[in-house]
Amino acid sequence: MLADGQIAALPTETVYGLGADATNKNAVDKIFKAKGRPDFNPLIVHVSDIQMARKIAEFNPTAELLAQTYWPGPLTFILPLNINAGIAPNVTAGLKTIGVRMPASDVTRNIIKHLGQPVAAPSANASGRLSPTKPEHVVASLGDKIDVIVTGGKSAVGLESTIIDLTGDQPALLRAGFVTGDAIERLIGQSVQDNTKQKTEDAPTAPGQLLKHYAPKTKLRLNAVDIEKGEALLAFGSVKFMGIKGGGHVRDLPISHYMNLSETGDLAEGASNLFSMLHALDQIKAPSIAVMNIPDTGIGRAINDRLTRAAESA
Ligand code: AMP
Ligand code: MG
Repeated sequence: MLADGQIAALPTETVYGLGADATNKNAVDKIFKAKGRPDFNPLIVHVSDIQMARKIAEFNPTAELLAQTYWPGPLTFILPLNINAGIAPNVTAGLKTIGVRMPASDVTRNIIKHLGQPVAAPSANASGRLSPTKPEHVVASLGDKIDVIVTGGKSAVGLESTIIDLTGDQPALLRAGFVTGDAIERLIGQSVQDNTKQKTEDAPTAPGQLLKHYAPKTKLRLNAVDIEKGEALLAFGSVKFMGIKGGGHVRDLPISHYMNLSETGDLAEGASNLFSMLHALDQIKAPSIAVMNIPDTGIGRAINDRLTRAAESA
């Protein structure tokens, strides 16, 4: 189907992607249409192996080292585009750079390998909304707009890939994810500039940081220390002291109104549950969702990045 220019939702360890043959401009156009995605926002290109990556992007020693360590995995590089590789211009939104990643899912890597072409794939959700970590999220958001969904269970990482820009003198982190900036610094022995907080509303020269993103329909109230009447709770860690304003305790909440990202306070577990729990709590249509504080360290920074943008969008 991809070879015929159709689009397909594909499982990856980060979130479900909406894929098209990256060398087919019409097919890539279908992604932008299905998502309602602004055409200035470039797509990440997924490869089955490093040889395919080296054909479409100009690798440097830092990229080689990072790929050797983290691929296949949740880390995307921004590198100079090889303009002779046949990548459709709408993939990169006309930029001379390209975002490239090798996903961990064997199923998806095999599909790319059999297609024999790199696959452009943003997250398989309507533009600006919550990312899908299960096939049913894709059905709910885009079911009537896409040709096929390849199912592969729940996305294990559950957050979009870390994006690192390797086109300048100093590497720059554009999006926080499972692979942290600290881990990258330790590996490459060079400091990494943090550009994850640079928020833009419109056409960016270095896109990747739209302020409004990951929007649930329900309002989010971050860093909650108690629960308002009627609110749902997205907890993290112990809720022993969590009370309901005006009387009551978290244990009095209806089962549908309480979810815990990680009862043991494990940030990786919290990241993997974030979008699926937000999807579930969004469906009960409470007046708002109270979200407990998440430590802003390690993967917690990626979780807080998504939560902040979601809260600003809802
Ligand atoms: P998603 O829709 O979750 O797949 O997001 C892909 C992200 O990668 C977006 O934030 C894009 O702006 C970013 N991105 C893709 N290609 C490039 C590029 N060449 N330069 C900068 N950011 C990019
Ligand atoms: Mg997305």
